[in-house]
Amino acid sequence: MTQKVRTRFAPSPTGFLHIGGARTTLFNWLFARHHGGQFILRIEDTDEVRSTEDSVQAILDSISWLGLDWDEGPLTLNREKGPHQSYFQMKRVDLYKKHIGDLLKEGKAYPCYCTKDEIEAMRRLAQLEKRPPRYDGRCRNLSAQQKKDHEASGKPFSIRFRMPDDGTTIVDDLIRGKVEFENKLQQDLVIQKTTGGPTYNFACVVDDHLMEMSHVIRGDEHLSNTPSQVQMYYALGWTPPQFAHLSMILGPDGAKLSKRHGATSVLEYKQQGYLPEVMRNYLALLGWATTDSQQIFAPDELVAKFDLAGCQKHPATFDTIKLNWMNGEYIRKTPVPELIELARPFIESSGLKINGGPALEKTVALEHEKYKLLSEVPGLIDFFYKPVEFTPKAMDKVLKSPGVKDVLLGLAEDLKDFSPFEDKALEERIRKFCAERSLKAGQVFHPLRAACSGRTEGPTLFLMLEILGRAEVLARLKAAAARLN
Ligand code: GLU
Repeated sequence: MTQKVRTRFAPSPTGFLHIGGARTTLFNWLFARHHGGQFILRIEDTDEVRSTEDSVQAILDSISWLGLDWDEGPLTLNREKGPHQSYFQMKRVDLYKKHIGDLLKEGKAYPCYCTKDEIEAMRRLAQLEKRPPRYDGRCRNLSAQQKKDHEASGKPFSIRFRMPDDGTTIVDDLIRGKVEFENKLQQDLVIQKTTGGPTYNFACVVDDHLMEMSHVIRGDEHLSNTPSQVQMYYALGWTPPQFAHLSMILGPDGAKLSKRHGATSVLEYKQQGYLPEVMRNYLALLGWATTDSQQIFAPDELVAKFDLAGCQKHPATFDTIKLNWMNGEYIRKTPVPELIELARPFIESSGLKINGGPALEKTVALEHEKYKLLSEVPGLIDFFYKPVEFTPKAMDKVLKSPGVKDVLLGLAEDLKDFSPFEDKALEERIRKFCAERSLKAGQVFHPLRAACSGRTEGPTLFLMLEILGRAEVLARLKAAAARLN
């Protein structure tokens, strides 16, 4: 690649960063990093009504959590880095105005005095005639006198970009190939609103040019904007960047991914206990694949292998089952001390009192194979750190069975002085206990587990007893037996 690679993620801060936006961010970041280029974050806050600071903050937090860094752009709400005046579009309004002024002078843009009602009527007519809504061009060729009258009336006006009347615009998309658009079917887009503020389509073109973007990689919902944007580049005497439109993301039912399919905001995934590296790995596979369909990537491997050639045209499917599987795979590969640190916020917010109980290194390790989400950790270790709470199944199906009370009291007696209180030795001792009383293993193991953990399922029984320790096991056996009176 001869031109220096510069990509950007340019979110409109009107909500959280959702899965689609995160995927777009990742692909831009991977592409820039793969080519030794730069990745820029630009906030497209041209929607004065819907843009919020909270949303900017959520976007910054989400991208940071994903572990993606940017070379230029806002670092906080009021601190930015990079050579440009600002990376918030509403702080760049003068720049857009200047270029709009040039287009007006050259007749490539024109003021439009149509009212909201007129525009709405055009929309309704189009609906009635079953064609896409389109500005009918009534202010395109106003006479000098008409213009004068409008100006004199002080009527609010927007500014529209004049699309060529005929010919086609070809978008040579790096993923979709050549896509041809008939110019006469494109409408004259508003580039400056009646408020004087720029619109997305114009600010985006000016910024992508001034910020020297080499590639614009974005969701395919923007493909339809591209012919107009390309014509704006031409009108301003600029060369458009290269475009790559990423395939749509669908839910497992084939409908466009939405809240209906579960969490959509990236920070919700953080809260649910997914690892950021899993999100990166998983999102990378939404519309991109290596030729050998590799699924799990080491941290630097994605950067090394990612390229637009592997991006697919067909829609990608977001599959929570696969995401959970992947999170489990990563958790299994995470050494226990690191896993504890990752799970610590979840353990802390669960309110468990770890101090005084068995070491987390032991309890967390017990079910290392089982966790799919970090948020599951406290629920699987909690019985070590608080009084036993019996599940209905443990109480009704196991503990209330005939003879259980004797078994529990017998075990308490048997283990009272037993030493060493360790996994293997305990197993041997308790099997002997069964044999001596002609009891089947299940008749003893199940009540023992239920009495000590309150559950019918859990970690390997004897290791669990070892970690609980003699005093606690004896106390729990007696307490459970007392409940059976
Ligand atoms: N602000 C636009 C959006 O959030 C960005 C589109 C683009 O990347 O050009 O969808």
